[in-house]
Amino acid sequence: MVKQIQAIRGMNDCLPTQTPVWQMAESVIRETVASYGYSEIRFPIVEVTELFKRSIGEVTDIVEKEMYTFEDRNGESLTLRPEGTACCVRAGNQNGLLYNQEQRLWYMGPMFRHERPQKGRYRQFHQLGVEAFGIAGPDIDAEMILMTARMWKRFGIAEHLTLEINSLGSKESRAAYRDLLIAYLEQHKESLDEDSQRRMYSNPLRVLDSKNPDVQAVLQDAPKLSEHLDEESKQHFSQLCERLDELGIEYLVNEKLVRGLDYYNRTVFEWVTNSLGAQGTVCAGGRYDGLVEQLGGKATTAVGFAMGIERLILLLETLEASNADLSPAQVYVCAMGEQAASHASIVAEQLRDQLPSAKIMSHCGGGNFKKQMKRADKSGASFALIIGEDEIVNKTVTVKHLRKEQEQQSIALNALADTLKEWL
Ligand code: ATP
Ligand code: MG
Repeated sequence: MVKQIQAIRGMNDCLPTQTPVWQMAESVIRETVASYGYSEIRFPIVEVTELFKRSIGEVTDIVEKEMYTFEDRNGESLTLRPEGTACCVRAGNQNGLLYNQEQRLWYMGPMFRHERPQKGRYRQFHQLGVEAFGIAGPDIDAEMILMTARMWKRFGIAEHLTLEINSLGSKESRAAYRDLLIAYLEQHKESLDEDSQRRMYSNPLRVLDSKNPDVQAVLQDAPKLSEHLDEESKQHFSQLCERLDELGIEYLVNEKLVRGLDYYNRTVFEWVTNSLGAQGTVCAGGRYDGLVEQLGGKATTAVGFAMGIERLILLLETLEASNADLSPAQVYVCAMGEQAASHASIVAEQLRDQLPSAKIMSHCGGGNFKKQMKRADKSGASFALIIGEDEIVNKTVTVKHLRKEQEQQSIALNALADTLKEWL
């Protein structure tokens, strides 16, 4: 036998048994973002490499070691998008959507990062991204959080997610704090692990969220970011906290929350669960007021978040919170005898006209009653419609209930759609 070709490691197929959960999740997401007045934007999966280097930052994990970068046939360096914010800003700048106006945007699709595949971490994964431009105050930060909280509620998983928030301050106050932190880390250099030593100068704030307990011990007495915030950022943060209090949204201020991308300032937040093991962050975001300008646009304030769809779906499955309808059919149409086949097909087409959202599967390939009933059962349908010579003559169909004990019944063809509408 010829060797089968396998998918690329860390890139998964979404099988027919899984797509119903995805579709359910996606439709709840679409409805929720629309209910806050956000519009969808779509952009390419591939961008010039420079875009991500300039936005995410040269010395971040993503740019240093996770990007799928290649030269195209013209010798230009391109990258499969590792996240959407940079792309969204690029598209916004290029199409004049961001200057001197407000935009509330969302997108959903695949992202690519060359990471070590494990539960909740893949090389092709999917994100919902939501971004708002041109609104400076904490009210819009709160809206981002409200919107995600609403999704958790709609999915019935709210009590399994906790909100962590922090403020990174302005670019200037962060730079001043950065110097203080480097000075402190220099004094404790020998107690830091290799990773933290490497990051000490290039990205010292990332040392703060090191998972290494020895490094965390060193950080006990490190200068605190919260004590070095600029006045305006402090006020922005306390107003956000107040707003969340008023809205009844619980949160935890996590002073060590810094995020792995360079462009954030002021508010950052994460929704975390402890039901998924190590990959517990389902959704993360924050403010990035400098990015639009950094990518060549006119200075525009911005805030956004990204939600990992795989992690959301893992969580729904772990908590058995998915109510997705897994069966491909609700009604299965059978034809008994050669004559009945095309008549059954006509009946099925009429039903699809009358009930456009019903899932109606027509039996194909003939066979006896037993075989057709077997297929009907396997389809997951609740009803089998049986059409034979008698039914054609009498202008009826015989309905067999597949999921409950009930006598089969004969229904007049002209009453069929209304009856099914009631039942489905
Ligand atoms: P992590 O802490 O898991 O490395 P991150 O800080 O790299 O996440 P972001 O770049 O902020 O994550 O992406 C936002 C969300 O996208 C994450 O919270 C997570 O839900 C999801 N995500 C990120 N990377 C992956 C991946 N490799 N596979 C699956 N989901 C991912
Ligand atoms: Mg990561």
